[in-house]
Amino acid sequence: MEKKVRVRFAPSPTGGLHLGGVRTVLYNYLFAKQHQGDFILRIEDTDQSRFVAGAEEYIYETLNWCGLEPDESPLKGGPFAPYRQSERKKIYREYAETLITDGYAYYAFDTSEELEVMRTSHRTETNPSPQYDHQTRMYMRNSLSIGSEGTEKLLTAKTPYVIRIKMPENEVLHLNDMIRGRVEFNTSLVDDKVLLKADGMPTYHLAVVVDDFLMQITHAFRGEEWLPSAPVHVLLWRYLFGEENMPAWAHFPLILKPDGNGKLSKRDSERLGIPIFAMAWTDPVSGETISGFREKGFLSEAFVNMLAVLGWNDGTEQEIYSLEELKEKFSIERVHKAGAKFNYEKAKWFNQEWIRKVSVDELSGLVRKIYNDQQVRIPDESYLRSVIMLIRDRCHLLPEFYTQGRFFFSAPKQWDLGALKPKWNVAKTSFFKSYSNAFGSISDWNALNLEMVFKELANSQGIKPGELQLPLRIMLVGEKMGPPVFEIASLLGKEESKKRINNLLDQTGDW
Ligand code: GLU
Repeated sequence: MEKKVRVRFAPSPTGGLHLGGVRTVLYNYLFAKQHQGDFILRIEDTDQSRFVAGAEEYIYETLNWCGLEPDESPLKGGPFAPYRQSERKKIYREYAETLITDGYAYYAFDTSEELEVMRTSHRTETNPSPQYDHQTRMYMRNSLSIGSEGTEKLLTAKTPYVIRIKMPENEVLHLNDMIRGRVEFNTSLVDDKVLLKADGMPTYHLAVVVDDFLMQITHAFRGEEWLPSAPVHVLLWRYLFGEENMPAWAHFPLILKPDGNGKLSKRDSERLGIPIFAMAWTDPVSGETISGFREKGFLSEAFVNMLAVLGWNDGTEQEIYSLEELKEKFSIERVHKAGAKFNYEKAKWFNQEWIRKVSVDELSGLVRKIYNDQQVRIPDESYLRSVIMLIRDRCHLLPEFYTQGRFFFSAPKQWDLGALKPKWNVAKTSFFKSYSNAFGSISDWNALNLEMVFKELANSQGIKPGELQLPLRIMLVGEKMGPPVFEIASLLGKEESKKRINNLLDQTGDW
């Protein structure tokens, strides 16, 4: 029987989730769902010096916003709980000790000063930055260099130690990556990574392998930045559980700066004023907040869609996908090897497409909140829905529903007079007086009728309607923007439109 597909997203909760991280979640999730498998969220928090308050909660909220709910997680529990590595501390030691017994790992007692000395005293021209590895390990204070008796003595004296993997010298290892194919590594290039720290906590390398085994992970997908650690993981699999039991691997390409020049970073976000986090992240120490896609006004559907195609396509020209459609069409093998350049303008295009696509119901909740944040009360739901329908095509980001639509909720207090005054004359004043007076006789108040009456009156008074439309717009909106002007008047209603026209006419006497 085929094994049930089980994948995991295994973040270290140290801050906001970069869009590359969310894409890793998404690809894992899609793969699991299309194979009727399980998607597990495991919190890799064994580095306690990097503990950041709120970072774990942030991950839950982001996954929730994107609609990528895990089947098993610290919050949800599951058959392999606990899913937070700090709560699994006692599990790992036994594996580290087995490695020592089998000769694949060793105790290392070096102090930080001794490590520093190694880095300087072993520096040579051919080895400018010496590491703790096959070249240096016999000069250090560890169970290989001091023998079993010396080791026993130090252990009995409770000398602090770490457990390191003994990387073989000059061996070529490989893994078959579902995206990259066969990837080879020379073990001599990798240092003797610490597996268990002095505080008894495992490092990421040991914990990731032990947990992928214990949690029966069948496919391990992660960002390309983890590829250099892969040889350590392959060896740990070989030594502990058998290489044949290793999950299938895939390393996703990096997300690059807009100009393609290196990995997209937090600094680019500041430099270019573009979001890189899914949601806003506030650093608990500095208090500094970095805004995210959600706060910029992205719909989660658009964010997820944009991420899906950042490094993947289905071989057609299609760009717009719903999550349901992605579950069907996504394939790991079609994920690109090369890094994907992030283009914020394109991201906004995706959002505009989704603003056009989602239901008015969904938009109305989000737009109402934006107005509330601006202290604008929206009493009438059906009026709000009409405004949304009228302006949605013009909005790339949700806050634009406010900037493009606020005049529907409050009359302009300032007008673009520069565009009006120079061409104003008494004929125009009398036109607008008669137009607003004619409103009383328009029984079916809609854009078409409003335009008809407007044109008839203009013609009968010998003025080109084209010269009157801009003034009407400025009367209703305050500026030269917005959807078709008769649509605006139609939505504002008879009384309000009349009020706005007269409001400006009152001022023209002084011009
Ligand atoms: N804990 C690692 C991280 O922070 C996980 C890497 C992996 O998935 O193996 O991304």
